[in-house]
Amino acid sequence: MKILMHILLCAVFSYGYEVVNGTAAVLEVDASTQKLLKESGPLPLLAHPKDPNKRIAFVAVPYRQSEDIDLVRIVNEKKELVRLHVRQGDYKKETLSVDPAHVSPPKEALPRIQAEREEAMALYGTFTPTRYWNAPFEFPMQSVITSDFGNARVFNDTLKSYHSGTDFRAAVGTPIVATNEGVVVLAKERYYAGGSVILDHGEGVYSVYYHLSSLPHPVGARVKKGEVVGLSGASGRVTGPHLHFGFMVQGVPIDPLDFIAKVKALFE
Ligand SMILES: [Zn+2]
Repeated sequence: MKILMHILLCAVFSYGYEVVNGTAAVLEVDASTQKLLKESGPLPLLAHPKDPNKRIAFVAVPYRQSEDIDLVRIVNEKKELVRLHVRQGDYKKETLSVDPAHVSPPKEALPRIQAEREEAMALYGTFTPTRYWNAPFEFPMQSVITSDFGNARVFNDTLKSYHSGTDFRAAVGTPIVATNEGVVVLAKERYYAGGSVILDHGEGVYSVYYHLSSLPHPVGARVKKGEVVGLSGASGRVTGPHLHFGFMVQGVPIDPLDFIAKVKALFE
């Protein structure tokens, strides 16, 4: 993590990190840290997977965020300002010729779409205090990436939507494995995502696997890292078979490959 500045202001130490929109900052702080406060409330201080003298904290930065994020770290009863400078990622833009608002799903599908969205958001917003993993996260399959996280869909210079995960090329029936140990919290057929599996890894971290053709585990099943969580497919609203893989942290979709790399770095 790059330290941009280190300014002494009165009794307040101020320092910062750079973080890209659509990623999660993985902050490492000294174990003496009493609190780490965000505007919305305290951030959970989590165990460092390797160094008992440190704690970690995740700060998910929404894709549409452009303002910097200020945190207050309390250590020895003193307050320090920690600024997360939000840099805009170099995401690819796809210009649309038709406003997606005019390419609506059939009216009768809307209640289902809405219910599925609410169900997923309720899951992502649930903070399970248990950490189910103790090793780095891994890719759900080894294959060519056909669409990166963050690809923007733009119409009339307005961002209409963006790709909230990473797509892997996958012939129908390819085994898809759990990125890490976790608990199945959703396993069902959904309108857009098709055969969907969501794993809770604890501490507000979820991984998602979409367009699957088989869902072998029921909700509540504990899965190990590398265990098959489904077979790839072309279910849901897709143009061809592939795996859509994503991560949600604190209810925010973030770049899964960036998150895997940052957590892996904690173990090195
Ligand atoms: Zn996708």
